[in-house]
Amino acid sequence: MEFATFADHCAAIEAEPADLEITAHVADLLTEAGTDLEVVARFVQGQVFPAWDGRKLDVGPRTCYEAIARAAGPNVTDDDVEDDVASVGEIGAVAAGYEFGGQAGLGAFGGGAASGTGALAVGEIHASLEALATTDGDGSHGTKVDRLFSLFNRCTPLEARYLARLVLGEMRIGVGFGTVRDAIVEAFDVPVEAVVRAQQVSNDYGRVARVARADGQAALEGLTLEVGRPVQAMLAQAGTVTDALEAWGDAAVEWKYDGARVQVHYVPGEGSWVFSRNMEDVTDALPEVVEFAEDTIQCPVILDGEVVAVDDAGTPLAFQAVLRRFRRKHDVARAREDVRLTPVFFDCLHVDGEDLLEAPLETRHERLTELLGTASAGTSAGEAPNLAVGGGPANRWFTDDPDRIEAIDAAALEAGHEGIMLKDPTSTYDPGRRGKQWLKRKPDVETLDCVVTGAEWGEGRRATFLGTFEVSVRVADTGDDGAGGYATVGKVATGITDETLAALTERLEGYIRTEDGKTVDIDPAVVFEVGYEEIQPSPTYDSGYALRFPRFVGVRADKTPGDADSLERLERLYADTT
Ligand code: AMP
Repeated sequence: MEFATFADHCAAIEAEPADLEITAHVADLLTEAGTDLEVVARFVQGQVFPAWDGRKLDVGPRTCYEAIARAAGPNVTDDDVEDDVASVGEIGAVAAGYEFGGQAGLGAFGGGAASGTGALAVGEIHASLEALATTDGDGSHGTKVDRLFSLFNRCTPLEARYLARLVLGEMRIGVGFGTVRDAIVEAFDVPVEAVVRAQQVSNDYGRVARVARADGQAALEGLTLEVGRPVQAMLAQAGTVTDALEAWGDAAVEWKYDGARVQVHYVPGEGSWVFSRNMEDVTDALPEVVEFAEDTIQCPVILDGEVVAVDDAGTPLAFQAVLRRFRRKHDVARAREDVRLTPVFFDCLHVDGEDLLEAPLETRHERLTELLGTASAGTSAGEAPNLAVGGGPANRWFTDDPDRIEAIDAAALEAGHEGIMLKDPTSTYDPGRRGKQWLKRKPDVETLDCVVTGAEWGEGRRATFLGTFEVSVRVADTGDDGAGGYATVGKVATGITDETLAALTERLEGYIRTEDGKTVDIDPAVVFEVGYEEIQPSPTYDSGYALRFPRFVGVRADKTPGDADSLERLERLYADTT
């Protein structure tokens, strides 16, 4: 396809406000693309390479301005181009404003594939940009400018508009992934589900378009994952325990590790690849991950997980420590001595020739367990994977019990991690999707300072400690004595270690007013900071409200009961969220 034809289509698409019409235009473009179909399907989204492909053009604005200025003739400088971009606001319109052509120069003769004459072809531009992406090292800036110059020098204004945007990754003609998906459906008469799935496994709309055109639905359905080519990571939304349990009945609960996402591809004897969340190849920076795969796994796999920086005891370090290692290109061995990384895996997408994207999480969990063993599934919430040993499976519990989930969350926080992830046990792995199947538990909205007005003695090992604490908010003064009162809002039982329980018991014992079996009434004296997921109207407590999933954050030693939060504030917070 001639690049001029491509540019004409882009102009028509850009001028079109209606989504359906845009899709129809893109479908026409794909139908007319001929042998350039793969490239056209990418270019129209502003991409030069498939999404899985780590190559980058690495052309900064100044390089592009320099090439444009040179093609525009001796009266235009790089600074002129830069100034024009600053006043016009985008490179396309600026590039389209110059007269190109006829500038002889080094690049016109030395620009390799692009130094031809006559009309520019899409394939020729693609070949030239591919060569540009591999230009590296000393003198690469000059070579890049030469190559771009020889392309711009042959552009009409309309071509220059879209070439400049393509090169700088600023296509912006209103064509996103969804448009290309629908255009492939329309152009080649294939079902949308087949296109979505094929895109997920191949991670390349160019290839999907070609396969759809050549062999239709059956061929799309035959596409499989390839070990070594990254797929997009499945993402999470924020959500609550209530959301999860109401929607799914039970949930897979995992710690949310505070590290960096990694997708590990491994074929024994052939190679290992580690990709970041954005599918960048970070293998060389993370030798521990490669070693883990080599030592542990005996068949081809694609695993999804997180690398965490840990100290010698396996305690996680701050996220910044991971960053110091993650994209490092030099001195990896030395950096490794300073910061140790450990991978934890929470998913597997491929095992030994079998793709698992469409298998439910429960099945993927079994496969992961077969590969890596169990971290602590089915054991008590406090048990953690041993991060000191150099990697392994993430811990995961399947449960419908909110108290258990609460305890897992508390243990994760105590171990220095971010909290928990809740996943639908029946959900498939949807690459690139930020759906409701994976929920990262929302951090507490705002904490409340509540007065402890009661408690219960614990059981078993904790029989000598006060355990569950009844907490209350302050009610405005009513009586003549100005004392006011307190109204209960919930019971706090989680987020408290044995050590803290012992200290709290000692502190509160002196204020016990009455005891009835295990239950005690406590004179208002101590203020707790309490976290919670949400406030709900409830007849259970005197205040008329209940805190959902109340959690002990700390003692407000600086506050007296008179400084605790009031019922009025509770009502206001509730009103703000409804
Ligand atoms: P966020 O970056 O806040 O949107 O949270 C999602 C990220 O949490 C993922 O991309 C992972 O990098 C990370 N993460 C940590 N632990 C888990 C886990 N158990 N399951 C899924 N993602 C996790």
